[in-house]
Amino acid sequence: MLSKERLIKRFEEMVRISSPSLKEGDFSNYLKKEFERLGLSYREDDAGKKIGGNSGNLIAYFQGKGESIFLCAHMDTVTPCENIIPKIEGEYIKSSGNTILGADNKSAIASILEALEAIVEDKVENRDIELIFTVAEEIGLLGAKNLDFSLIKSKEGYVLDSDGELGSVIVKAPYHSRFYLNIYGKASHAGAEPEKGLSAILLASEFILNLPWGKIDEDTTGNVGIIKGGRATNIVPDEVYLEGEFRSLDLKKLNLCFEKLEEGLKKIEIKDGKWNLRKEDLYKGYSIEKDDPIIKRVRPIFEKLNHNLIFRTTKGGSDANIFNERGLKALNLGIAVENPHSIEERIKIDNLFELSKIVYYLLKGEEL
Ligand SMILES: [Zn+2]
Repeated sequence: MLSKERLIKRFEEMVRISSPSLKEGDFSNYLKKEFERLGLSYREDDAGKKIGGNSGNLIAYFQGKGESIFLCAHMDTVTPCENIIPKIEGEYIKSSGNTILGADNKSAIASILEALEAIVEDKVENRDIELIFTVAEEIGLLGAKNLDFSLIKSKEGYVLDSDGELGSVIVKAPYHSRFYLNIYGKASHAGAEPEKGLSAILLASEFILNLPWGKIDEDTTGNVGIIKGGRATNIVPDEVYLEGEFRSLDLKKLNLCFEKLEEGLKKIEIKDGKWNLRKEDLYKGYSIEKDDPIIKRVRPIFEKLNHNLIFRTTKGGSDANIFNERGLKALNLGIAVENPHSIEERIKIDNLFELSKIVYYLLKGEEL
């Protein structure tokens, strides 16, 4: 049977083990011991070596009946995450105030292990399950991007890593691309002969003003987040560096933003400026039909547990983007972590326990 006390203890144990991105090793070792204790076979892939971390992704196998599905959560957390001291205050678990809590994403991992333990104890039949615990999610989904997909046979599964209440599911997620741009002008003495120079700051200003910006439309956003340049007030600046991004639920709209960006580059050329652009596609967007089997599977579970099924669109990326991109259908579930990525991060104990129930029924995989 699921145990709230054991779940809380397990969660607190997990968040005490520091696991910033690329340093998930200690937490990964903890999970390996748990898999062994629960009788699960597992593999660690070579993602850690590829990205310079001290652990790869962990894939554990909980054999059972029927078609296999996967459950995914990430092992790393944002910082500050050294010496996390979880404390219970009223109906919440929070950190002691100087660190994050780590409920993103350890509430999901704790719930999964609690549900597994209960299934093993209860000796009930279970669905064939693969657990995928990724590394380096918080620094650009690097674990998922470098996951050894040959270790996974499931065609679809659930990522337990969305903000939002229990019962919410992400049916639409964006495409997200970044750009890195150097703009070059010509230096000259700003007092003696400014007319001989070409200000890269002026070129960059015009470029930015003509760029799609902020909330471009319902689906699309743009931002320049970093700007560097100039050497002294008496020098006409010859170089400016910019970093920016576009996101859109619609690939055509994203491409349109980059077309506008290129128009801006042409204007720089017309004014005798030069530039160097690098574009990086971080992840692809996806959308899931509302009557897809991946939703039909969780719908009765939410109903049984009195969580309203809520279809949500997100403007952020998650490991689910990478799975969907690689042809494995993935639904990201809301896990009700509050104020993630801040020292005010907290989770309601009841929600943590409810999440373990959702996972329990997913593992059980039979008529409710
Ligand atoms: Zn997360």
